[in-house]
Amino acid sequence: MIIVLKHDATQEQIDHIIDRIKGLGLAVHVSEGKEKTIIGAIGDESVLAEQPLEILPGVEKVMPILKPYKLVSREFKADDTIIDIEGIKIGGREVQVIAGPCSIENLEILQETASMVKAAGARFLRGGAFKPRTSPYAFQGLRDEGLKYLLDTKKKVGLPVVTEVMDPRDLELICEYTDIIQIGTRNMQNFRLLTEVGKTRKPVLLKRGLSSTIKELLMSAEYIAAEGNDKIILCERGIRTFETATRSTLDISAVPVLKEETHLPVIVDPSHAAGRWDMVPPLAKAAIASGADGLLIEVHADPERALCDGVQSLKPEKFDELMKVLRKVAEAVGRTL
Ligand code: PEP
Ligand code: MN
Repeated sequence: MIIVLKHDATQEQIDHIIDRIKGLGLAVHVSEGKEKTIIGAIGDESVLAEQPLEILPGVEKVMPILKPYKLVSREFKADDTIIDIEGIKIGGREVQVIAGPCSIENLEILQETASMVKAAGARFLRGGAFKPRTSPYAFQGLRDEGLKYLLDTKKKVGLPVVTEVMDPRDLELICEYTDIIQIGTRNMQNFRLLTEVGKTRKPVLLKRGLSSTIKELLMSAEYIAAEGNDKIILCERGIRTFETATRSTLDISAVPVLKEETHLPVIVDPSHAAGRWDMVPPLAKAAIASGADGLLIEVHADPERALCDGVQSLKPEKFDELMKVLRKVAEAVGRTL
């Protein structure tokens, strides 16, 4: 249920409304918008049937949220959520690019790649330390050692970092090293993991599940938001379809659909969608043209020697060329990059 407050509601009235909602066993989430402050009462709403909140002083109106996702819906918050990470804003007018290798392999390659993507205009560095590999025999990531390399590189190159968490047992450690926690496609519906990540206050990059609908993606985001963490960036990274020409099928329609349904920032990962480097530029351009707030792109200083996802990784020179074109696309749709 959404409780819209009168514009002149006093703090005392607001506190009283919050106490009443909590007293009914519902969770309270306050959203201060440009025009209105609204309170979300989330939980078993049937208790409200007997306890009308309309009569409380300071309340303008009470409305049900019709969508199954509540806190992440546009109904709950009309204004775009803008996530500020070390002064870089995701979800605002500026399109942000996150770039770097699939996995952290050694300090030299990571630092070389990081300096090059930074020079080309990327604002965040990506790199996996814990890798979700299909085969248990494939390179699984450098784990703790990789996290140290990531932080060293952040300090040396000066880019905030993104890395994936696969298991709640690693979450505390990963939070010490990263600026954004990534939840990968295979874990989008790992509800225990979502809940634990929701208890932190770190920004979360939530990737769409390989076979998940947009609604399921939003329900997963709701798990994180329900724990009080509303710094969620959604990522369309391609879904599994009958098509085999590309690794996954980039669902470009997900961008405008998500922008309509939710206030959260939406980014696109053309690298995992394409599965081949030469398809990354056209998909990246389409993503920005369709309204994405950012991109997640795999770049490797030496893709031929990459231990993971080399075929889809751009060489730094190609990434630099792409960034120049993307700037023009961003400008054409009223954004900056
Ligand atoms: C990744 O970003 O390296 C990754 C494993 O992505 P996804 O979860 O989308 O496959
Ligand atoms: Mn990868």
